[in-house]
Amino acid sequence: MKLFDTHCHFETCDTEEVSAILLRAKEAGVESLTAVGGSEDLNKCALFAAELAAAKEGMPLVKCALGYDRGQTGCARPDIPADAKLAAWGEIGLDYYYSPETRAQQLKLFGEQLEEARRRNLPVIIHTREADEDTLALLKEVPSRGIIHCYTGLPQSARAFLDAGFFISFSGIITFRLADNVRESAAVVPDDRILIETDSPFLAPVPMRGKKNEPSFIRHTCAFLAEKRGMSPEDFATLTYANAERAFS
Ligand SMILES: [Zn+2]
Repeated sequence: MKLFDTHCHFETCDTEEVSAILLRAKEAGVESLTAVGGSEDLNKCALFAAELAAAKEGMPLVKCALGYDRGQTGCARPDIPADAKLAAWGEIGLDYYYSPETRAQQLKLFGEQLEEARRRNLPVIIHTREADEDTLALLKEVPSRGIIHCYTGLPQSARAFLDAGFFISFSGIITFRLADNVRESAAVVPDDRILIETDSPFLAPVPMRGKKNEPSFIRHTCAFLAEKRGMSPEDFATLTYANAERAFS
């Protein structure tokens, strides 16, 4: 089985800890993963994981995405070098569930981040929660390509993001008992646009709930969605792997 975790975070630059996570991923069949930033610290750790994997034998392929997310409106946002080797820009986006009070600042930052991705000719990784209308409106202003990650929105918004050319990625949330709405949304995503991710270290899928999530757990989300789509886990892994390679190309 050849799996691609399209979205995970590293919260440490500890060589031993990061190596162990990456080796467990490789053992579980994760050939590739994307280490995603979003803040000064997450950016640092994502780069660290990518460099570590590149320097050591027997590691999965680690792609890197850097950028500034909705929580960084009032934070230091050091320039990211123009020559950083990136597969995507992110995560970026809007969250009105947790932070409705910073809507205006989030919109401004999200717009700037979309422009930055366009200047660098990179796909974007977008977080959108209770903000789909604003997200879609901004994507009309700044045409972009990429991924709507950890999708938990409505099927009709999923269709709108698909119409805009985006891939849609599902995390372990889809395995949660109360996530019928997420399963309904996944059902409208065609085979050539669906991705899977852990969004680790949070949101461990069933049957690992309560544990600290990590890329090796992607196999559970893969198996769950494969069954929903009437496919074998192997075939669904192959399909989502090929999609991820296109999304990050
Ligand atoms: Zn994330």
